[in-house]
Amino acid sequence: MSLDIPALIKSLENCPCGKKHALRAPFVSFEKGLTADTGAILREELGGKDLLLVWDRNTEKASPGLREALTGAGYRVKELTYENLREAEMEISEEVMREAEGTDLILSAGTGSLNDVCRYAAFRLSLPFAIFATAPSMDGFLSGQAPLTVKGYKTTLDAKAPEVLLADVDILAASPAELKAAGLGDLIGKYTALADWKIASLLTGESYCPSIARLMRGAVEKAVKPIREGADPARDEGYALALMEALTLSGLMIYLAGSSRPASGAEHHISHLWEILYAARGLAPLYHGTKVGVAAALVSDVYHRAVETPPVFLAHTPAKEALERAFDPLYESIMRESLPDPAEGVKNETIARNWDGIARIVREEIPTGEEIRSLLRKAGGDATAEEAGVPEDMAEAGVKYAFYMRRRLTLMRLLRTRVAPFSVTE
Ligand SMILES: [Zn+2]
Ligand SMILES: [Zn+2]
Repeated sequence: MSLDIPALIKSLENCPCGKKHALRAPFVSFEKGLTADTGAILREELGGKDLLLVWDRNTEKASPGLREALTGAGYRVKELTYENLREAEMEISEEVMREAEGTDLILSAGTGSLNDVCRYAAFRLSLPFAIFATAPSMDGFLSGQAPLTVKGYKTTLDAKAPEVLLADVDILAASPAELKAAGLGDLIGKYTALADWKIASLLTGESYCPSIARLMRGAVEKAVKPIREGADPARDEGYALALMEALTLSGLMIYLAGSSRPASGAEHHISHLWEILYAARGLAPLYHGTKVGVAAALVSDVYHRAVETPPVFLAHTPAKEALERAFDPLYESIMRESLPDPAEGVKNETIARNWDGIARIVREEIPTGEEIRSLLRKAGGDATAEEAGVPEDMAEAGVKYAFYMRRRLTLMRLLRTRVAPFSVTE
């Protein structure tokens, strides 16, 4: 495996950006045939005797030999098996807490919601926590927060990053192409996220780390390359491993940068808006990375078009009625999040003076929307809002108004509020 985390953290010592990038390194290993060693690795890294294994029927089926590897290493294994866990609900996490009572560590076999319910339970119980990842589908593996549904509302809670993150490359490669396409979508979103970060730093002096940006971009390129070169997304091992490494690196970079800037920009704002509107309107959730990939292509279209011409300044905010309609029924809560305007201190003349620099960042660092859609399709994923089944009004609301989702300066926010003709003529 090429993802050497201790070496990577070391490479960021005395970083020229001036920031201290410190982290207690988790134990991370992705290898072919690793399943058989899982018990021994956990014994070595975390110790303990009684282990709670949390998974669902899908991830159980995807992980043959895992149970035996754990018992073979001397663990007494208690299993908590769900049918098909798609939603990370607080009740589920509370159940994990009850089941974990009296055990020495929690092992979550799976991704996404299965990790999140355990992440929060381990945090509440102060128990050692490990993840056995079964698919490279999103970049939250090393996250220290858990988005849980509490009484119907998605809430981001402090939780625990795993001390140990393991994956068997054979299992990753055999995971559904649809999940891998979601992982790739989340990674493609880094192109727009990194550009937003650099542009914001150009305009406001916000701290920006070129080393972190370069590492993130390099990992994304490595994951995209096999797809560009025609690898079979359903079974290519190099692709599956590169995805897992880049997704893991993304979580690490968030820690090391002390901000989600390296991983999240205008495209994630769109994804977050769709996510909460889907939940509020009772629609079946889409994969996080599917939304991010589709949104990144939309953002790229807007950015590339915007830098074709010099900026014309005209203050314009969307009409209240339009926002109320677009955000229904979440208008109040979204608007509360968005103030004060992070673009307030940015003068038009600063934008004008830096416009060539902004245009260069967009042209050099963000693939065109067409390229992004082509990559997503080659990976076997949905490339447009329509293909993903996002309702038309939500797709439009995403591109036009999702910048309200976070108090963060993005090029999208400037285009939607300050630079004509965006939103004036549309
Ligand atoms: Zn993401
Ligand atoms: Zn740095």
